Amino acid sequence: IGLTGWPLDQAVGHPLDEVLQIINEQTQQPVENPVTRVFRENRVVELANHTALVGKQGDVVPIEDTAAPIRDQDGEVVGAVLVFRDVTEARRAMETRRYLAAIVESSDDAIIGQTLDGRIASWNKGAERLYGFSPDEIIGKPLSVLVPPDHVDELAGMMQRINRGEFIEHYETERVRKDGKRVEVSLTISPLKDADGNVVGASKSARDISARKAEDRRKNEFLALLAHELRNPLAPLRNGLQIMQLAGSNPEVVEETRKIMERQLHHLVRLVDDLLDLSRISQGKLQLRKERIDLAEAVKNAVEMSSHITEDQSHQLTVTLPDEAIYVDADKTRVAQALCNVLNNAAKYSERGSKIWLTVHREDAEAVISVKDTGIGIDPETLPKVFEMFMQVDRSLEKSHGGLGVGLTIVKRLIEMHGGSVEAYSEGPGHGSEFILRLPVAPSLERTSSAAGHNIPLGQRFDRRILVVDDNKDAATSLTAMLKLMGNEVWTAYDGEAGLEAANNIHPDMIFLDTGMPKLNDFTTAHRTRQQPCTQSIVLAGTTRWGKAQN
Ligand code: ADP
Repeated sequence: IGLTGWPLDQAVGHPLDEVLQIINEQTQQPVENPVTRVFRENRVVELANHTALVGKQGDVVPIEDTAAPIRDQDGEVVGAVLVFRDVTEARRAMETRRYLAAIVESSDDAIIGQTLDGRIASWNKGAERLYGFSPDEIIGKPLSVLVPPDHVDELAGMMQRINRGEFIEHYETERVRKDGKRVEVSLTISPLKDADGNVVGASKSARDISARKAEDRRKNEFLALLAHELRNPLAPLRNGLQIMQLAGSNPEVVEETRKIMERQLHHLVRLVDDLLDLSRISQGKLQLRKERIDLAEAVKNAVEMSSHITEDQSHQLTVTLPDEAIYVDADKTRVAQALCNVLNNAAKYSERGSKIWLTVHREDAEAVISVKDTGIGIDPETLPKVFEMFMQVDRSLEKSHGGLGVGLTIVKRLIEMHGGSVEAYSEGPGHGSEFILRLPVAPSLERTSSAAGHNIPLGQRFDRRILVVDDNKDAATSLTAMLKLMGNEVWTAYDGEAGLEAANNIHPDMIFLDTGMPKLNDFTTAHRTRQQPCTQSIVLAGTTRWGKAQN
């Protein structure tokens, strides 16, 4: 009744085909009732696969069935017995097993079955990829084949834990491949139990974590280097302050000390700027302020910015610019910054008094800047990696040359943000290096006026009314002092609210506004200032802690 839906009293007397409608599941066509076949063929009949029973209510159930003849004493067939059962569950289980097997087989992880005595019982494609053995080569072999000699002890301990039915999760260790190479892996092991709950083996998944580990190591080394590099300039700065305190009345000593402090501070600011830039670039937060520029302007800026190091090292820099201007749509500061990094490297990685060539020329629609040196060169293996983050050819701290290994990463990203590309060449150690930056030339050669109107060159005298708004009092005081020295009339406020009030009272020509202040942040302050009728048209200059203009 359960399967057919026909109660006995209703079924009796009905033709068999009415009560037992059997169809082929795939074609949905009726198939011959096995009982009919028994009578015709006089033997036991089993139904083909994919048969289903259509119940009294029209419901379809997959079945497996067998029909056998019933014979009398003389062997004459007098009836038939039909045995059938619902295989829905069995089929589902089979599908699940197939599905799981497919998952295991196609998994990126190595998934390995093992017996209790530590032999390999199954081996998926991932395992083959990770360890290099094919299933034929490895199944039945002891697990110790994969374990390097110095890790054999840990294997025994793991086997004990598995035998106790414990799980082992994300266990990081080393294994050895068929070719003898070691791989760093993370293992997750679960005991396999039979129906009674006895542990009969284990399944183990292994993931290659070599790349992640290498990355971790690079980050740790980088942090050590960073701490070292940031601390380096601090000692001379502290000494400088002390010298000024002791010998403040001797102008020569003060001037000498001031120069040292300036150089060290400059270096410190550069390191921190690099880090900030790198984090901005990697988070996609760096915005280019593009305008049409003559590439020569950016080149000049870069040469100027790196002049202290080239001069310090008594290098001889030869700059060759094309006769005709090459215009590019670019953020002048950023292009100069990228080029300055490359120039600084050429200076850093060359002996004192070396030659450096900076050449700009045009190749079709590309502006090509080359910086060539005769310095220490780069070996062919590291050459393709020099643009990677935290990459330094020589990690020993003494040889770090005061860098963090992020300079070229910044160069590459900045140039790529401009739609350009970077390349590095070297004939090998001792043979110098060449770095080439390419930028797309601006589509038309017409020059639009640059928005340089607000730039204030240092050293000129001004008579402006300026308001400095910064919650960092030291920063505000020093900027105020500098602006006053330049001949301006300067007011200072320490938060956005006070800044707004001051702006309304004094009607400044210009406001220096710190980014990220408490009580009305810079954007709100800027916005409100713009809304006031009397302050609508004043120049607003955003500053960050490091004094770089932001907008
Ligand atoms: P760093 O802060 O170490 O200078 P960079 O990202 O600027 O970092 O450069 C990465 C590495 O590439 C440097 O550590 C150096 O080993 C190598 N390198 C860069 N420029 C040159 C060059 N002009 N000559 C030789 N090696 C260079």
